[in-house]
Amino acid sequence: MGGCGTGCGDGMGGPFSEGRELVEFVLMAHNGAVAKTPIPNGGLPTKCQECGESFTLETFVAKCPKCGGVHAVSPPRCDDPANIQYAGADFRLPQDW
Ligand SMILES: [Zn+2]
Repeated sequence: MGGCGTGCGDGMGGPFSEGRELVEFVLMAHNGAVAKTPIPNGGLPTKCQECGESFTLETFVAKCPKCGGVHAVSPPRCDDPANIQYAGADFRLPQDW
């Protein structure tokens, strides 16, 4: 049985998922290599969707410098800050991430 027709996997998300699903997808993509890859052209200016702090998303997954809220964008959509997804207030990256 395949199952690749609607997003390739069981609840694993994909580059066009939203919210936490997208964040988790980017975190796991290529064993985590994508998450820490710098976004081309110096990153995406954005506002923390938790506390409103302005910061630049410099890697495909990044934390708000103020509150630690986790934000991510997928490589195919990284040309527009509107595509940045927020994982939610109760989602945190490991300390040593
Ligand atoms: Zn914040």
